[in-house]
Amino acid sequence: MWREFAERADKEGWPGARLLSALAELELAERGRRRVERHLVESRLPPGKTLDGFDFAAVPMLSKARVMALAGGGTWLEKGTDLICFGPPGAGKSHLGAAIGRALVEAGYRVLFMRTTDLVQRLQQARQALQLEAAVGKLDKYDLLVLDDLSYLHKDHAETSVRFELIGARYERRSLLITANQPFAEWNKAFPDQAMMIAVIDRLVHHSIIFEMNVESYRRRGALERKNRSASASPRKASEPGGRGVGEHFA
Ligand code: ADP
Ligand code: MG
Repeated sequence: MWREFAERADKEGWPGARLLSALAELELAERGRRRVERHLVESRLPPGKTLDGFDFAAVPMLSKARVMALAGGGTWLEKGTDLICFGPPGAGKSHLGAAIGRALVEAGYRVLFMRTTDLVQRLQQARQALQLEAAVGKLDKYDLLVLDDLSYLHKDHAETSVRFELIGARYERRSLLITANQPFAEWNKAFPDQAMMIAVIDRLVHHSIIFEMNVESYRRRGALERKNRSASASPRKASEPGGRGVGEHFA
């Protein structure tokens, strides 16, 4: 855009320094925008899961103010604090995790979102190639690693130990955001090795923020509400012969 700016500078008699700083500012803003775009692509965040699109009223035990503060980054990421979201399937854990991740990328942080099973598989391949340390090291560039569905059941010892190493490697340095269907009491299913499970839980709870999202599945609730609404909007007219509510015809 320098031609346009130079023309304006000539016309309006800007001093040289003003022209230079206007161009430099423009370039910086453009680079920042491109960086965020790049980081969004590398983040593997699921599209469309934003904080704007998250219905906080559906999870009353969750403080919106707290979530918004965390989504701005800052101290918790600098300290390597972990964020753990517990709740039954459909409670909105993955949506919330992805939305926080997206907000952080937009704020200039680097985030990687992965289903835990996918990441563990990738790390296992790295281990077979004797590259595990390097692969775990590569994840260090991310300020936040979102491990979606951590408590997914694993029988395989090699897989659990890779997960264990990953959590250990980030401990007290880099943040994890973990979503899990089962509370800690049930993690013996996810980490069959008792000593390993205790060590994992110990590391995770040491510096962590825990969101308990004990709500019914959002989609199921939405479906029920819609059903109730249509039932009350079109009450059956019992007096009509063979009368049926409109909803039933379209059900
Ligand atoms: P979980 O990971 O806890 O099993 P998801 O985050 O995958 O649940 O949520 C299931 C679906 O419901 C997703 O499409 C998600 O976007 C939507 N959803 C869940 N909770 C909310 C919410 N509070 N506001 C908006 N959408 C939600
Ligand atoms: Mg999920």
